[in-house]
Amino acid sequence: MIDLIEEIKDLKKAKNATLLAHYYQEGDIQELADFTGDSLKLAREATKVKTPVIVFCGVHFMAETAKMLNPEKKVLLPDLQAGCSLAESCPAEKLLRFQEMLRENGRRFQTVTYINSSAAVKALSDWVVTSGNAEEIIRRVPADQEILFVPDRHLGQYLTEITGRKMILWNGACIVHEIFSVGDLLTLKRQVPAGITVAHPECPANIREHSDFVGGTEAMLKYIGGFADQKDFLVATEANMMWQMQHKFPQHRYHPVPGITCACNKCPHMARNTLEKVRDCLMYGRPEIEWQPEFARAREVVTRSLLN
Ligand code: SF4
Repeated sequence: MIDLIEEIKDLKKAKNATLLAHYYQEGDIQELADFTGDSLKLAREATKVKTPVIVFCGVHFMAETAKMLNPEKKVLLPDLQAGCSLAESCPAEKLLRFQEMLRENGRRFQTVTYINSSAAVKALSDWVVTSGNAEEIIRRVPADQEILFVPDRHLGQYLTEITGRKMILWNGACIVHEIFSVGDLLTLKRQVPAGITVAHPECPANIREHSDFVGGTEAMLKYIGGFADQKDFLVATEANMMWQMQHKFPQHRYHPVPGITCACNKCPHMARNTLEKVRDCLMYGRPEIEWQPEFARAREVVTRSLLN
């Protein structure tokens, strides 16, 4: 393992590469990364990379976003099969048909798309949002337009609750956040009575309503960092996020909220990226994200929504 880590560090230098890692990657990958972050932070970091090669330790839609913002760079994804249940729930052809049907019925709307979506879906959108900026973007959509929110119905419902804007919701969900067990959360709350529950807005309403704080991963870190004295946090998001919490704020204790089917709540797509695959993609320069025609239009929407 130590040899493998040293090999990756040497290859990173030799290939002049920058390694970006999402907070949902295993701790040993986050440790090796030049930058860690949520989707928004990583999309912004990707625009500042100086090296000709980016290794994106995350899932496919994130690496696509890095490529569309850096067309001249080589963007590598350690495992091309690292997908996302949310992105898969909304194929571009299906979205296009639905938008056409709404227009034929005389509906005036803007499409607001969560960043967890393919480039082809982003290209069909008016706005791309993350959990960090969604509320602000929703408030920008003119009141005389409806909002079609895709693909996460839980995040959409949460945004309706906090902004009061009714939306047409796509029926997608994250397989990790959807399966937190409310029964187990309540048991955990009894076991750790002073615990503070933090939940991601991709969680269903029954988890959010038992939480003290709801926010995306960056917002969670900011919230937790606001407590100087030791606290117990019950964490309802992907389990690797606790590595980042422990790393930044070691004074606290963190308890994962269990899922219905699996106690670990790790994203199986993120888990496809391993240290061995990171080493191999640096060594061989593949798998690579190739430029696709829809990236140009998707880049316009992403730039307007997230970078300006
Ligand atoms: S945790 Fe959920 S939303 Fe995030 S990449 Fe995995 S499946 Fe997609």
